[in-house]
Amino acid sequence: MADIEIRGVRKNFGSYTALHTLDLAIRDQEFLVLLGASGCGKTTLLRIVAGLETASGGEVHIGGRRVDGLPPRDRGIAMVFQNYAVFPHMTVFENIAFGLRMKKLLNQEVEQRVKRAAGLMHIDQLLQRYSGQLSGGQRQRVAVARALAVEPAVLLMDEPLSNLDALLRLEMRAELKGILQESRTTTIYVTHDQVEAMSLADRIAVMHQGRIVQAAPATEVYAYPATRFVGGFIGNPPMNFLPASVAGPMAEVAGLKLPAPATSRPVEFAIRPEELTPGGEGLTGRVRVVEPLGPHQLVSLDVGGHLFRAIVDNDREVRPGENLTLAPRPGSVRWFDVESSAAVL
Ligand code: ATP
Repeated sequence: MADIEIRGVRKNFGSYTALHTLDLAIRDQEFLVLLGASGCGKTTLLRIVAGLETASGGEVHIGGRRVDGLPPRDRGIAMVFQNYAVFPHMTVFENIAFGLRMKKLLNQEVEQRVKRAAGLMHIDQLLQRYSGQLSGGQRQRVAVARALAVEPAVLLMDEPLSNLDALLRLEMRAELKGILQESRTTTIYVTHDQVEAMSLADRIAVMHQGRIVQAAPATEVYAYPATRFVGGFIGNPPMNFLPASVAGPMAEVAGLKLPAPATSRPVEFAIRPEELTPGGEGLTGRVRVVEPLGPHQLVSLDVGGHLFRAIVDNDREVRPGENLTLAPRPGSVRWFDVESSAAVL
């Protein structure tokens, strides 16, 4: 069992609060992604779990054992970082064997484990090469293989694909997902790339300004953002927001009447650009820009003075300057509390 429990962890750097008191439980064998913009505290939280940073308060438990007093090597973890430290003057074999030699394993065991990890990462052909001669993508695989070879209970990864070009990144992403599903390693993975997060995660913990604002499966984070920030951060293009006025059971948004949400507090209307269809009863705006995106077109409109985006099928011709009416798909409208910015369900 290698579940991870983060209890009341917080972190200050001098007078700056990098992490507000936060709780997070990661299940055994779960793949959890910490997602958030630069500076929100993802790396700091990961480093606290790893033991590379000391928390200002709180506890970390791995596999039911309190570890926050232990050095990294005694926590049963392995790590892969963005600037993966692969030793260029060592062979791939010796790089992957590095952690195993530290553990003083027998040669035969080292060889078996190196070959298994190299096989998983499809680098068995490269074992005798010097790492300095490898491409970035190959070095990245060596770094992951080295972490997997120690057969850690917990794998911690900080933007491990960020140095790769777009295509290789896509390939490695799918491979990593397959490998980690197979090895059933509990994983915390840090990224600011929402597509990567959605593709890899069993669960995404979205961070914002030192807090976890939502921790849920990707589909849930996408469909039911817990806060306005999450709706605006996840999805490309992000959610649309419009002011709403509520009178009794009805709300009005840019001339469209809708059933009001169950709250008496001021709310804001929100909808994803892909949840709109042209025609019918809807929101009307003047088309500003039309961007062909291959399978569909991204249309930017002015709705009551607000920027509004819609993904529209190619079969509907859209021209700048025209007035376009867009109807929300059933069940797609979301509301956020204007003051707290929390979702109103
Ligand atoms: P990125 O994606 O850019 O790596 P992040 O979400 O991982 O960002 P952290 O590296 O965890 O963010 O940093 C969180 C905040 O804490 C930042 O504002 C950062 O400047 C600050 N911080 C991190 N380490 C230190 C430190 N050693 N001393 C002072 N401030 C720090």
